[in-house]
Amino acid sequence: RDSTIYSLVREHADRTPGKVAVRERDRQLTYAELVDAADRLAATLHGHRVRPGQRVAVWLPSRIETAVALLACSRNGYVACPSLHRDHTVGEIVELLTRMRAAALIAEAGYGADADRHDVFAEVRGLAGLRLVLALPPRDGTAAVLPDLPAPAADAPIRTDPNTIVYLAFTSGTTGAPKGVMHSDNTLLAPARAMATDWSLDAGMCVYSLSPLSHNLGLGAMIMTLTGGGEFVVHDLPRGESLADRLREVGATFVFGVPTHAIDLLAELRERPGTGLPSVRGFRVSGAPVPPVVAQGLLDLGIVPQSGYGMTEAGSHHYTVPDDDPALIVESSGRACAGYEVAIFSREDPEQVLPPGEVGQIGARGASLMLGYFDDQAATENAFNADGWFMTGDLGWMDEAGYLRITGRKKDVIIRGGHNIFPAKIENFAMRHDAVDKAAVIGVPDERLGERVCLVIKPMPDQQVDADQLLRHLDASGLSKFDMPEYFIALDDIPLMPSGKILKRRLVEWVDEGRV
Ligand code: ATP
Ligand code: MG
Repeated sequence: RDSTIYSLVREHADRTPGKVAVRERDRQLTYAELVDAADRLAATLHGHRVRPGQRVAVWLPSRIETAVALLACSRNGYVACPSLHRDHTVGEIVELLTRMRAAALIAEAGYGADADRHDVFAEVRGLAGLRLVLALPPRDGTAAVLPDLPAPAADAPIRTDPNTIVYLAFTSGTTGAPKGVMHSDNTLLAPARAMATDWSLDAGMCVYSLSPLSHNLGLGAMIMTLTGGGEFVVHDLPRGESLADRLREVGATFVFGVPTHAIDLLAELRERPGTGLPSVRGFRVSGAPVPPVVAQGLLDLGIVPQSGYGMTEAGSHHYTVPDDDPALIVESSGRACAGYEVAIFSREDPEQVLPPGEVGQIGARGASLMLGYFDDQAATENAFNADGWFMTGDLGWMDEAGYLRITGRKKDVIIRGGHNIFPAKIENFAMRHDAVDKAAVIGVPDERLGERVCLVIKPMPDQQVDADQLLRHLDASGLSKFDMPEYFIALDDIPLMPSGKILKRRLVEWVDEGRV
């Protein structure tokens, strides 16, 4: 436990310098090239007087330079912050840079939601404390990595303590404003180490992440792969191109993504079965509830779903493994990985542990827990109970063997006339209907009952489904009449966050504003 992310990757660079470490569509870096680029970037940052503990913001689409930046930060002890994503506006980026007091910014020219009207490089000029701005040209397939990197003025000593902060991540912002979360090499490496052991991963792995590197799931996939000596492939397919073809072409052995990604891949394979995906062993599905039909669909293709559970604050600490009972792989979110403890606490009293079978708030403790929320001591203290358990804000129950079933978020529970309704359960039933591609359940305010249940679906292409059909299907599936949706909306497109998760907040706004 004495290694940093940088030192682990550097060991691979010494052993297998010519092996491909990260791959984009037309560009790639070998292990030797990756470490060399990281050394040059680290020296450049140091030369511009960026000092250990200071923030290096990264605003890039998924491209190989994110790996370089992360390693440079791990090498010198800077705090990488790559959570800035494609939906951010320039104004929001300036606010975030101010909030984190960034010392450096690495960004792609013309990226972001309002790039046609605003120039990030002009608008960050004069930001206090910002010492270096590196502008990367848009990728054209040939651009060098970190082009025109100013010649290093000085080199900094290599940092050796893996327990200080190197990563500032923002949560997805599902329940409110995104929170800044601080991690060290060791808290980031804990889930990677556990997964490598439980799934017998070795340097032969080729990991394809559908989650962008601005999201913790994608970044975690990259850290796991590069510290394990494998090959990491960044997802950068233009819209409309076949993902299955790309996975076959690169020989992916493992895929990472949220349930939406798995749903889309299964839909593609249904339309064009081709040869299946013979190289893919596993698919880590995380970040949102995994509908059992999705897990089953992957199993039917010979891909073991790693039905997992995790969050920015605690890493990906829960999953099923290949030798689990298939029924458990489909129905549960697995058990806590090595070095991890999970328990269920009373919703009213976070100090009281509940016995197996009872639904309560999920608490987590172990090696991957965050160091705390950035600049928010009060929120950090609030997030833990007296015994140091992180309170996830999610609800679930555990069986005797420790397999977890997540019933939903504490905040998402719909309370209809005093009766608790868990959206995930209804979504899972709705997803089993052949004509339903995606489903989301939200609460709609109601004067008499407090809330009523609204089911939003996206039908399969060229299919139609009406409310009566769906109600009959839900009834036949065994949904109780107390849980039955009373409103029903079909949309051609469901709004997604950059991570691929369904943006329920937006659906709630649309319903509020009477737009749907
Ligand atoms: P915010 O904290 O800003 O509201 P967020 O919680 O969506 O946003 P993330 O840290 O990206 O931000 O997501 C973690 C959350 O995603 C978990 O707390 C949980 O609610 C949900 N989640 C992750 N994996 C699963 C899963 N397998 N099943 C159900 N829910 C999951
Ligand atoms: Mg959260």
